[in-house]
Amino acid sequence: MSPMSSQMSGAKKRIYMDHSAACPIDEKVLQAMTPFFVDSFGNPSSLHMAGRAPRKALEEARQKVANLINAKRKEEIIFTSGATEASNIGIKGVALRMKGEGNHVITSAIEHISILNIMKYLEKNGFEVTYIPPTTDGFVDPAKIEQAIRKETVLVSIMYANNEIGTLQPIDEIGKVLEQKDIYFHVDAVAAEGKIPIDVQASKIDLLTLSSNDLYGPKGAGALYVKDGTRIEAVVQGGGQERGLRSGSENMPAIVGFGAAAELAKNEMASEAPRLTALRDKLIKGILGGIEESYLNGHPTKRLPHNANFRFRYVEGESMLLNLDMQGISVASSSPCTSKNLLPSHVLLACEVPTEEAQSAVQFTLGRSNTSEEVDFVVQILPNIIKKLRAMSPFSPKNIEEMRSTAGHREKGHHHGLE
Ligand code: PMP
Repeated sequence: MSPMSSQMSGAKKRIYMDHSAACPIDEKVLQAMTPFFVDSFGNPSSLHMAGRAPRKALEEARQKVANLINAKRKEEIIFTSGATEASNIGIKGVALRMKGEGNHVITSAIEHISILNIMKYLEKNGFEVTYIPPTTDGFVDPAKIEQAIRKETVLVSIMYANNEIGTLQPIDEIGKVLEQKDIYFHVDAVAAEGKIPIDVQASKIDLLTLSSNDLYGPKGAGALYVKDGTRIEAVVQGGGQERGLRSGSENMPAIVGFGAAAELAKNEMASEAPRLTALRDKLIKGILGGIEESYLNGHPTKRLPHNANFRFRYVEGESMLLNLDMQGISVASSSPCTSKNLLPSHVLLACEVPTEEAQSAVQFTLGRSNTSEEVDFVVQILPNIIKKLRAMSPFSPKNIEEMRSTAGHREKGHHHGLE
């Protein structure tokens, strides 16, 4: 049954378009993980028999993740519990190690909150941080980074692509600038991984953050790529696993799943990326063409294949999200990871979107399950939702006009009464 007819007949097929918040685990990934819960439950550090299969599987998973980003050696991959932990280990680790040589770090104003909060921590601990503002399309200009470099600069952290508005960053150009200046380059690649090819060697990246779930792997696994020779201090102390950078027994089922997911994503990227791009463009065309005063956030073409982020004047994002949810469609109203606070997105504000428009943003992140029919359904029902919400909005031009004229009448009436 098509999603449209299933919606109409009341069947419960939901349309999920919030893949940057969470992805389902691929069936093949689940199969790869299963033996490591019971049959091969051993600790990869154990010297006895039970450690053998997990040890082998750990190194195979490491190789698969290394292949996804073209790392030179699999040993440059450090498994972590997720992207947030990977970025903490990478950024704090380099900053701590390099403190004697310089205390300046550069990042952008549109990084994920997990990066921005590490920067705040560094500021509290003797570092100075420069936040590069983006262009209105969400680009971080390599020339601005170059201008911000000081002799104390030890590290630059820029995301591969923005998770909210989808804009792809000029990572190769930034990498070139930093290589010449001998400054470490950290990249948060969570939004881009598995969607577009990543080559840490060609892009001159020293440290790179990955997450398993964004690749249809399990939650609870991530990785930090650390280029050989990078001077980094351990910030997690313990048993010395993962080259001493991330101590603690490895989450074997999740790591094996991460490896399987990385391999699948690498194999499927060439066919899946153009498919998603076509769906994304259909969605963009349908929404911008069907709804007045709707705008695309981010760059129209230099964006992630699966991301479409819109703002609609005179509408509030949360109400749109809830209305879409009632129609069986899951989307995000701002950064899915920070939507606990209802503040407008820091990314849109940095791109100079007015606050009230930033509050109207809705983000669609498409994925493997989405079909052309689902996009049609969204394009079909969204105009009515917007119409309904605009009719209720006190800020729509029509309602402001009405309020003005009612107020005018009242004033006149009042005067008449006095005369
Ligand atoms: N970076 C980016 C760009 C993200 O979108 C996210 C959230 N998916 C993270 C980092 C943090 O990931 P996690 O919550 O899995 O640690």
